[in-house]
Amino acid sequence: MPRFFIDEKPQGENITITGEDAHHITKVLRMKINEQLVICDSKGNDYNCQIESLQKDCVCCKIIETTQSVGEAKTDVILYMALPKGDKMDFIIQKAVELGAKKIVPYIAKRSVSRPDEKSMHKKCDRWRKIAKEAAMQSGRGIIPEVCDVLSFKDAVKQASECQFALFLYENEQETSIKNVLSKKEISSVALMIGPEGGFDESEVKLAVNANMKSVSLGKRILRCETAPIVSLSIVMYESGSI
Ligand code: SAM
Repeated sequence: MPRFFIDEKPQGENITITGEDAHHITKVLRMKINEQLVICDSKGNDYNCQIESLQKDCVCCKIIETTQSVGEAKTDVILYMALPKGDKMDFIIQKAVELGAKKIVPYIAKRSVSRPDEKSMHKKCDRWRKIAKEAAMQSGRGIIPEVCDVLSFKDAVKQASECQFALFLYENEQETSIKNVLSKKEISSVALMIGPEGGFDESEVKLAVNANMKSVSLGKRILRCETAPIVSLSIVMYESGSI
């Protein structure tokens, strides 16, 4: 059933959808009166609704049943992703949302090749937010994960290190595996920091470790920068019982 998001709990038994979502319902999905859809209030509630009236940019629905959103992970996982080349970030964001990430924070690493100017950065972030919304609708999430504005590496590390498990996925880490750090632990919040195609610079490793991030390995093979987020998110979701 089609899924849409509103920002707050509805008052009463009706919900009105406007704007591009209303357009999507009427013009793209061509839904009809009495057809049903799910509206999610991003606060943990799903509302099974029936369409009562349809205009081009306004759809009025009646709540039939209220249930708990089941698409959210128990653990807050935030993905800190170095800007990759091309449109890999589109793919990474889509998979991170499907896998249950709560927030995605793009940052610029020393070896990030892609360095768009402010204007194109805003355009990219807008596109990434659209991808996150579509992936949340498709995968049955209870929220639309936030895609933050691009941070500097330093600010990303400062923010990431506030998590209970602040994991720095380092391709040259020889001792500590992600398994050593996470297995059999009560996990409430995890930051996953992934580098760009060129990996991390020694000075970045130092700064992250000095900020109490934990350098961990995903094994002996070098994963692509678009593979590493999928693997590490899957591991965290599995270890914390969300997969
Ligand atoms: N240029 C680096 C090299 O050849 O060693 C590889 C960087 S890798 C393509 C991109 C990012 O994915 C890395 O910075 C790291 O965050 C993550 N990654 C890839 N393989 C990993 C592994 N085996 N252990 C931990 N992190 C890994």
